[in-house]
Amino acid sequence: MSDTILTLFSITALVKNIPEKKMPELPEVETVARELRAVLPGKKIRSLELYWEKTFEHQDAPPLPGQRFGTIGRQGKYLLLNLDKSVLVIHLRMTGQLLVRRSGQQARHSHDRVRFLLDDGLELIFRDSRKFGRIRHVLSAEPLLRKLGTDAMDQKLTAALFGSMLQKSAMNIKAFLLSQKYIAGLGNIYVDEALFLSALHPLTPAREVSGAEPLFNNIRLVLQRSIDNMGSTISDYRNTKGNEGLNQRYFNVYGRQGLPCKKCGGPIEKIRVAGRGTHICPRCQQRGKT
Ligand SMILES: [Zn+2]
Repeated sequence: MSDTILTLFSITALVKNIPEKKMPELPEVETVARELRAVLPGKKIRSLELYWEKTFEHQDAPPLPGQRFGTIGRQGKYLLLNLDKSVLVIHLRMTGQLLVRRSGQQARHSHDRVRFLLDDGLELIFRDSRKFGRIRHVLSAEPLLRKLGTDAMDQKLTAALFGSMLQKSAMNIKAFLLSQKYIAGLGNIYVDEALFLSALHPLTPAREVSGAEPLFNNIRLVLQRSIDNMGSTISDYRNTKGNEGLNQRYFNVYGRQGLPCKKCGGPIEKIRVAGRGTHICPRCQQRGKT
């Protein structure tokens, strides 16, 4: 077993330079999923240690010990760790982290909430300082995810389908994209970035967005670019222990209030939309100009 698998999956390290309240979004969760895919499939769970009861919920599923990990999926911001007979559905919320490492190598951290002892001398740790993250052990993920929209990167989601969803909504475009009900995985950062690239004001009613395709393409663009950067960041992170995410250097509006717009030079403003701090260029994103 090579040391390269002993990776720290640290969402907070990846995004810690980003100001204000942040939650892992699709690219960050996809990065974790990719790393877990390289390590977990085929590994058997020997036992489970629970350090914070609310983190782990066991619902109508066969016992964990003896089960092996299968495929690692993701829908929106949910991680789906499939096992032989059941599935672990994980939401990292604000500060959840998953770590895979050799067991017994380090003392228990005060923020460790769950520890899965695996075969091959490995352990999977769920660390979460704020304690909002959840692991649900269920027979099937379907009831939990029934109300969740199509994953934003799912190939089944097309611009035409996206356009028909917009037409049916009474929400403004920012609330629509954040809701997770239609498309899943977008949060505050990538919604602000995609709306800027599309020259759309966040208060524009979803059904008034003319031409869904440019917005759809920009959503895919910001997510894919971030996924690509997270991947490379994790490599850096391993080697240098503390390098931060690279993606924020590509932000056009998020966290840039008061700084000049990269398109028009005017100042980026921070307003409140859908209950969230929202970053816009008021010149490039005018209401009614879609
Ligand atoms: Zn501008």
